[in-house]
Amino acid sequence: MARPQHAGPKTAVVTGASSGIGAATARLLAAAGFHVVLGARRLDRLREVAESAGAGGTATVLALDVTDSRSVAAFCDQVGECHLLVNNAGGALGLAPVAEADEEHWRWMYDANVLGTMRMTKALLPKLVASGAGHIVNIGSIAGLEVYDNGAGYTAAKHALRAVTQTLRLEMNGMPVRVTEIDPGMVETEFSVVRFGGDEARAAQVYRGVTPLTANDVADAVVWAATRPAHVNVDQIVLLPTDQATAMRVHRADETGTDRL
Ligand code: NAP
Repeated sequence: MARPQHAGPKTAVVTGASSGIGAATARLLAAAGFHVVLGARRLDRLREVAESAGAGGTATVLALDVTDSRSVAAFCDQVGECHLLVNNAGGALGLAPVAEADEEHWRWMYDANVLGTMRMTKALLPKLVASGAGHIVNIGSIAGLEVYDNGAGYTAAKHALRAVTQTLRLEMNGMPVRVTEIDPGMVETEFSVVRFGGDEARAAQVYRGVTPLTANDVADAVVWAATRPAHVNVDQIVLLPTDQATAMRVHRADETGTDRL
């Protein structure tokens, strides 16, 4: 049966829209005609992204900390209609063996990547359902499909996110809400600078001799999934740089073979 068509611009909420994949996604969704609501902790950066998103659509900027239930509630209260939720906020902290795990790092990674997605999804689900053609896109990672040395805090969180996405897919069956997970490999963003506590030299080593994905490459995949007809659910897109065959196997211009992140 044909689903009702929405008149006027659809609204997309993008979490973590102040940099990297989220910022690029907000820009490309605006260019595709969505009204975009951008959320993150750094409002100044969100405003810059909203201004650069300009031409194609309109943008609203709201403070959001996905690790804080009250912030999520205040943010979601200000969202009117919602057709698309892109759960992108998150990232990694540290790279250490389990034997030396930093409990605070692990707690933050679970909170931001997994609980943040749960909080946003729970809060906006009624609006997504009410839209008649809602869509949730979770930004996972190859770290949700594979493990690698010293990465357990992050791989555990992204594996958990994968479980949440797949569970949601089951729970939304029969409901007018599509569920997609996009799992990128290496993308050059602020991700590694954040992971290594601001150490830019160490972060640069991650991308040494490699042509990584850009934030726009991932944003393109989000927009493609979001703009399929309502009866088409893109379940999962795994998007790796050509130079990266697995989480650990990365071809670098200056060497070959297995690599450590
Ligand atoms: P990024 O440039 O560091 O962006 C992370 C975004 O998340 C920022 O906008 C940040 O904004 C936001 N954020 C972090 N904590 C937040 C919180 N508590 N509440 C709200 N927003 C928060 O890194 P990125 O690569 O674009 O990462 C985006 C997503 O892609 C993450 O989920 C990451 O795990 C995933 N990913 C990245 C890669 C990669 O190689 N880069 C690969 C696979 C998956 P504020 O700091 O302003 O709050």
